[in-house]
Amino acid sequence: MKAVVYEGPRQVNVERVPDARVERPTDVLVRVTTSNICGSDLHMYEGRTDFEAGRVLGHENLGEVIEIGSAVDRVRVGDMVCIPFNIACGSCGNCEKGLTAYCLTTNPEPGMAGAAYGFADLGPYSGGQAELLRVPYGDFNCLVLPEDAKERQNDYVMLSDILPTGWHATRLARMEAGDSVVIYGAGPVGLMAAYSAVLRSAGKVMIVDRHPDRLAKAEEIGAIPIDDSQVSPVDQVMELTQGLGADCGCECVGFQAHDPQGHEHPNMTLNDLVRSVKFTGTIGVVGVFVPSDPGSPDDLYKLGEIAFDYGMFWFKGQTMGNGQCNVKSYNRQLCTLIHEGRARPSWVVSQELNLDEAPDGYEHFDRRDHGWTKVVIHP
Ligand code: NAD
Ligand code: ZN
Repeated sequence: MKAVVYEGPRQVNVERVPDARVERPTDVLVRVTTSNICGSDLHMYEGRTDFEAGRVLGHENLGEVIEIGSAVDRVRVGDMVCIPFNIACGSCGNCEKGLTAYCLTTNPEPGMAGAAYGFADLGPYSGGQAELLRVPYGDFNCLVLPEDAKERQNDYVMLSDILPTGWHATRLARMEAGDSVVIYGAGPVGLMAAYSAVLRSAGKVMIVDRHPDRLAKAEEIGAIPIDDSQVSPVDQVMELTQGLGADCGCECVGFQAHDPQGHEHPNMTLNDLVRSVKFTGTIGVVGVFVPSDPGSPDDLYKLGEIAFDYGMFWFKGQTMGNGQCNVKSYNRQLCTLIHEGRARPSWVVSQELNLDEAPDGYEHFDRRDHGWTKVVIHP
């Protein structure tokens, strides 16, 4: 099969690799019809991780079931399915509680929890930027889609990651109806956090970035754009909230946070959040903090060690929630919102490419070129 293969920092190729196949009785084999490029793929693409050359990328996948293992009895051949990026067993202590991002079964590394397709440190699983994808524990890990799935793939594929992740950011931030919320980052994830805040009836949604095209997307759904290359985002949020600060905030940037001049400041968004969220306010962090130098495998437990203004955070009595999204726990409700026409997350899509064009898509998306907001690949 053809697949997008990681070769080294900022180098991916479309190559022939052995076909994905049913390996275990609980596996489902999917012919991938849509797979997105994600900001998380850039951690591997940019060489920030120890992702091995030769591995296939892609964790935001949707497609048609073409084969099932002998122990699969819910999912059927011909079903259109969206596949949460978390690979979970469905029956360990964490999965039982809905914490599928922290599955205790699927990551073979001792002491680790959680797995994903085509991802560093999250198990050996191959990604879906390919013609075929093996889905372990297929009955649990496939969301069977409604009858309009084929025509609305660009909406439903967002259920694999960024829509639930944006939703999760607002939940971690304990956002309630009527709250004011500030979101740092207007990449695909930040845009979905803003979208989720709107869907969840936020009173005021403010979003910080410096890319005019991304801020314009946010404006389309009624968020207030704040361009931090022009103004101080903290001052701006204070002004928009009568000097109190936002009720809550979301971090949707992660370790690659930069100042508008392009210098890396991994702690910048956390510090700005602490300053622009009110006393006793709540912060949800979904941005990923991975080290710029992967170092030795032993450093895994220092993953993304950074400093931020804990004193101010403490003084303001704020609360922070963080981590990967447990996609599965939000999927059914969000799927219904799409099916019933109440959510149309495909509004974020800027390019649709075929598999051969994927390397070009990576290059543009990595540079955050104007107009490259969310790239969808149709293998
Ligand atoms: P992205 O890189 O396209 O978007 C990040 C945006 O942040 C960019 O538009 C950039 O201009 C902006 N930015 C940079 N520095 C900033 C600053 N100081 N203030 C405000 N904005 C700033 O990526 P994305 O796809 O939107 O993903 C964002 C993050 O979310 C990544 O770290 C990704 O790995 C993470 N993520 C987490 C989960 C999860 O489950 N927790 C899931 C998916 C993605
Ligand atoms: Zn993703």
